[in-house]
Amino acid sequence: MATLTANIFNIQRFSTEDGPGIRTTVFFKGCPLRCPWCANPESQSPFQQLAHRESQCLGCGSCVKACPAGALRFGRGEGESKIVIDRNACNNCGACIDACPAGAIRFYGKIMTIDEVYNEIKKDVGYYFSSQGGITAGGGEPLLQADFVAELFQRCQKIGIHTTLDTCGYARLSELDKVLKHTNLVLFDLKLMDRVQHKQVIGKSNDVIIRNLRHIVKQGTPVIIRIPLIPGFTDTEENLERAALFISELDRTMHVDLLPYHNYGENKYRMLGMKYQLTGSTTQSKEKLRECKEIFLRHGIDCEVQGESLKDKGLCNKS
Ligand code: SF4
Ligand code: SF4
Repeated sequence: MATLTANIFNIQRFSTEDGPGIRTTVFFKGCPLRCPWCANPESQSPFQQLAHRESQCLGCGSCVKACPAGALRFGRGEGESKIVIDRNACNNCGACIDACPAGAIRFYGKIMTIDEVYNEIKKDVGYYFSSQGGITAGGGEPLLQADFVAELFQRCQKIGIHTTLDTCGYARLSELDKVLKHTNLVLFDLKLMDRVQHKQVIGKSNDVIIRNLRHIVKQGTPVIIRIPLIPGFTDTEENLERAALFISELDRTMHVDLLPYHNYGENKYRMLGMKYQLTGSTTQSKEKLRECKEIFLRHGIDCEVQGESLKDKGLCNKS
């Protein structure tokens, strides 16, 4: 049988925001949604991508000379980057990365085998056990590479490592089921509750997402709902009221985590030659965050703003 491989754009050890305890988060490249506020734009394309970091670039031109495809040129000022990449001409050979003396060019995305990822995860097994942590598959959307995630989770569970799936919820039921069988906890993103607005803003309606959430709840795997609070989009009273009502009717025992807005990913848009659509947006005030949380508490739903402790929720399979 062929070795399983996946396109991974980051493996983050000692992560504490992606489920209980200390975790290793594996970020899978490729996502079916296009949220304009995405903090990981490098996660969207399923393919390897070249990125240029303007602030590190010396303007030496070694990359331009090294490129065999003529895909690089100097910027001409007027808002252009120091080095401009013709992404249609680039064949991802990596010669520019090797030639750059400043480390200003890099790839996002690397094809890794299941053994490579598993061996990386095993390095911190002691920390997982002592902190009631484990491994999280995030992205991007890990369910786009479901066979790999299922095999990885199965191997982890065999040696007692807790597994968490961090998903946008948009996936075929068959792919979801493959992974769910080996999953201890699901972090499930909910964004816009209105299906028309969801399609207009994110590119797909939320029908599949809602169906999959119902399916996971029915199947019995513990779920934490995560709602990114995006100014004027998801953080409106109407959207959060609809989310709270939906969750309270589905399963009031589910925990809700609210993620305040940040623009940490904005620089990566520039590195990838992409446009960030929320420039100028600012994070919510403490008062606004308190109001958002209150909406869920009023519906009898356990709710926290990210940064508060996720431990001691009975959501980890370790005692
Ligand atoms: S990866 Fe290769 S083809 Fe693409 S810009 Fe760099 S040197 Fe040119
Ligand atoms: S080789 Fe590196 S430092 Fe030199 S121009 Fe290219 S990206 Fe900038």
